Amino acid sequence: MKIIGVDLGGTFVKIGLVDSLTGKILKKSEIETKVDLGGDTVVKRISDEIKRLTENENYEAVGIGSPGSIDKENGIVKFSPNFPDWNNFPLGPKLSELINKKVYVENDANSFALGEKWFGAGKGKEHIIALTLGTGVGGGIISHNFLITGSTGIGGELGHVIINPNGPLCGCGNYGCLEAYASATAIVRMAKERRKKFPNSLIFQNENISAKVVFDAAKQNDRLALIIRDEVVEALAVAITGFIHTFNPEVIIIGGGVSKAGNILFEPLRKRVDELVMPSFKNTYEILQSPLVENAGILGAASIVLQRENL
Ligand SMILES: [Zn+2]
Repeated sequence: MKIIGVDLGGTFVKIGLVDSLTGKILKKSEIETKVDLGGDTVVKRISDEIKRLTENENYEAVGIGSPGSIDKENGIVKFSPNFPDWNNFPLGPKLSELINKKVYVENDANSFALGEKWFGAGKGKEHIIALTLGTGVGGGIISHNFLITGSTGIGGELGHVIINPNGPLCGCGNYGCLEAYASATAIVRMAKERRKKFPNSLIFQNENISAKVVFDAAKQNDRLALIIRDEVVEALAVAITGFIHTFNPEVIIIGGGVSKAGNILFEPLRKRVDELVMPSFKNTYEILQSPLVENAGILGAASIVLQRENL
């Protein structure tokens, strides 16, 4: 069976035709979102691109991973920081009308978790915690094979678990959330704040400081970079230990740009979580790097269809 996965971002929309059995992306394209043209035009552009991509192709349905709070029953974007004008915007119904197929909408971090379950490191698992470390920190919880989203559908905000109430300001308005420590944005902020104290750090030999720059410097034993790495690890370890105690997952899967740091991040993280978990939880879980990389968005979106239709 073939499914369309739409990874809707604030700047770009990635669209892929996915073989649901193999998880192969058969065709793929990327268009600009052009949020400023308004919701109806964005939907029309997505529909045109899907039609172009699926000419002479048959497909089952469309899954859309969208940032923000989603009314998944009705395919409505209730609110999204990436689309300021979309208040209760009926994304699913509008697209469905244009392409005459079923359209399922899910929050993008939740769809990342589903993508891992159907096609990634969570294949065959029923208990998964997924974290995406990007501009922000997204989370998804799959427990007993169900995506857990709570009474109003907006639960699973694992990035906004508070690690330290006296910590740095988070984008959400609270202080000391996981996102304020483990997002790419936070990592860059932590580096810039300490420039005066560590003027000779390798980090500052780069004009544009990014999470990658910080982790590359850490790999060369740069002192500031290692201090930041340790803070990221500590925040992640505290949060993940809480998720392990709450959900008893088989796997914790970490994706997003920051996860590309690889072992310099994952090795100390595994060690620290092992120190923090209660003895009965030791060796009940694995902490894994997402294998889906650039395709995580499209595959996650496609797997919304698989999950909802329970195929
Ligand atoms: Zn927050």
